[in-house]
Amino acid sequence: MKAASFDYERPASLREAVALLQRSNGSARPLAGGQSLVPMMNLGMAKPDLIVDLAGIPDLKRVDEEQDHLFIGAIVTHAAIEDGRLPDTTLGMLRHVAGCIGSRGVRNRGTIGGNLAHGDPAADWAAALMALDGDAQIVGTTGRRTVPVSDFFHNTFTTSLSSEELLEGVRVPTLSRRARWSYYRVHRAANASPDAIAAVVVDPERSSCRVVLSGSKRIPRNLLVLAERLRATDGADFASKFDLRRATEVVTQYGFGGDPIETQIYATALSRAIKRAMEQ
Ligand SMILES: Cc1cc2nc3c(=O)[nH]c(=O)nc-3n(C[C@H](O)[C@H](O)[C@H](O)COP(=O)(O)OP(=O)(O)OC[C@H]3O[C@@H](n4cnc5c(N)ncnc54)[C@H](O)[C@@H]3O)c2cc1C
Repeated sequence: MKAASFDYERPASLREAVALLQRSNGSARPLAGGQSLVPMMNLGMAKPDLIVDLAGIPDLKRVDEEQDHLFIGAIVTHAAIEDGRLPDTTLGMLRHVAGCIGSRGVRNRGTIGGNLAHGDPAADWAAALMALDGDAQIVGTTGRRTVPVSDFFHNTFTTSLSSEELLEGVRVPTLSRRARWSYYRVHRAANASPDAIAAVVVDPERSSCRVVLSGSKRIPRNLLVLAERLRATDGADFASKFDLRRATEVVTQYGFGGDPIETQIYATALSRAIKRAMEQ
């Protein structure tokens, strides 16, 4: 199929871009890497009257390392992160996650902001940035606001962004040298989105521990009780006892799974992520 006809604008500033979105009354769509939007338009699932191409906005390409966090502009590509073109403030986790996404062709075009804004529950950046305790920086005609990535996803393909707002970028806290992380994804089909993702980040110097589970059918969830138990106990001992049976109990308790195969996939991802984080 071919996309329905649409107008096209390529603004040079954030202010111009949000003004275009506001004037369109919800009939415009920002375009980042086009890896999701273009197929949706070709399939007739999205029919915007106006495409607002973000590629000409320098602020969205910005990468800034500050004292305790890294800011990554929304149109920074997965490939740029995979190739180590950003400062490594997460002991390699961002780079590892970027390299997991789709194929190199997808990573060359797909962006970290487009990946989050799309609201796919199985998006790799959703789970990873939630585990890293990142924030989404949002800009609209009335100003800027910050939403923790943990609160960014409301439902499948529904996020905190209104049709008049843009995701400007994400802020990712810097991990201390003693931090540990693991990222485990299960995908049954090659070059497809994962069926299940489990991400664990433990940073003793910040007294923080986060365990996130997500997948193709569930928006990412912070497993708070599990994370607290992991933080408060001897992690290695906890991990050695966290077998598939225990992981299955947690998966079921948080409403993941469904049929036995799905449950097993989520439980496998979770138990392996916890073991790997503690083995580092
Ligand atoms: C074959 C294939 C395999 C893939 N595999 C994976 C995978 O394994 N893991 C994974 O996580 N992803 C995967 N993806 C998704 C891909 O990585 C992109 O992240 C995703 O398509 C969206 O990013 P994009 O930059 O292409 O955004 P676009 O397609 O341009 O936009 C997506 C949506 O977000 C909106 N949007 C974009 N940028 C902004 C912004 N700054 N502010 C507000 N709204 C915005 C658009 O209007 C649109 O609604 C895959 C895609 C393909 C085609």
